[in-house]
Amino acid sequence: DVTATKGNEFEDYFLKRELLMGIYEKGFERPSPIQEESIPIALTGSDILARAKNGTGKTAAFCIPALEKIDQDKNAIQVVILVPTRELALQTSQVCKELGKHLKIQVMATTGGTSLKDDIIRLHQPVHLLVGTPGRILDLTNKGICMLKDCSMLIMDEADKLLSPEFQPSVEQLIRYLPANRQILMFSATFPVTVKYFKDKYLPKPYVINLMDELTLKGITQFYAFVEERQKVHCLNTLFSKLQINQSIIFCNSVNRVELLAKKITELGYSCFYIHAKMLQDHRNRVFHDFRNGACRNLVCTDLFTRGIDIQAVNVVINFDFPKNAETYLHRVWY
Ligand code: ADP
Ligand code: MG
Repeated sequence: DVTATKGNEFEDYFLKRELLMGIYEKGFERPSPIQEESIPIALTGSDILARAKNGTGKTAAFCIPALEKIDQDKNAIQVVILVPTRELALQTSQVCKELGKHLKIQVMATTGGTSLKDDIIRLHQPVHLLVGTPGRILDLTNKGICMLKDCSMLIMDEADKLLSPEFQPSVEQLIRYLPANRQILMFSATFPVTVKYFKDKYLPKPYVINLMDELTLKGITQFYAFVEERQKVHCLNTLFSKLQINQSIIFCNSVNRVELLAKKITELGYSCFYIHAKMLQDHRNRVFHDFRNGACRNLVCTDLFTRGIDIQAVNVVINFDFPKNAETYLHRVWY
């Protein structure tokens, strides 16, 4: 579904006139929702992790900012778009060529299984935007044929697939060739938990766009226990004795309940810290730091904490109080 929701126009993004012409000639009248979300953010230089269903216009969502950012007078690869398949490389380079029809931007596609010699010849000509599979691009880069020192934008389409064992090592090696001011945009319809390591390492504070209505939390085993309010602590105690907890984070819905529960847990004989918004930032930082260093096994907190969680050792998340909405649930258990 590529129908717009916010009523933005492509004119709103102050794009180069030639690019705007290409967009309209391709028949796009208005940005789709994922384009509305990602184009302005990508233009600011921020990293992006974007999730939207298939067929919602993700390709143009990253091609438009890529084409806008390229300086066509500079003879250097400035954008690399990584894709998992040859077909997608060709299709995506085609979209770039069409959108950039009135620009003087050179687009090249390269994938494994084709002549390396041809690629070498083509890379002797100016190339501004390279689309391809990770293995081939890495190969060309390792050989010194493809230069990425001016490539400040890396786009990963079907990003979760690019982070499967087949591709991830090449992707990570490629990133090492990029300049320090690099921007990474990840697009996919699915982001399984296995992406988290990569995200934390290479784009720790991305702008997150999530246009999926259903929550699919692949890789996380979810359980629920139906208990009365007055039995919750007892239930938690049972869970503590049954689960293999490395470290846990336990969510409550209010400052009061955080403090109360932390006290109860300590009384039960388990080590426990807590964090909530009414504590001084300094104190919060200290608790967070100590928890991360493993000083304590359990942390009770309010939702204030959901965005910052990137503690590898946490293997159990407990929603002691029911999250207020689905988004909150998602952030509690995933980001
Ligand atoms: P996705 O990568 O999200 O699966 P695509 O980028 O392949 O989706 O786009 C799906 C289709 O929608 C393509 O045919 C594309 O040309 C079309 N499309 C994309 N953006 C727009 C738009 N703003 N207006 C009209 N059609 C669009
Ligand atoms: Mg796509």
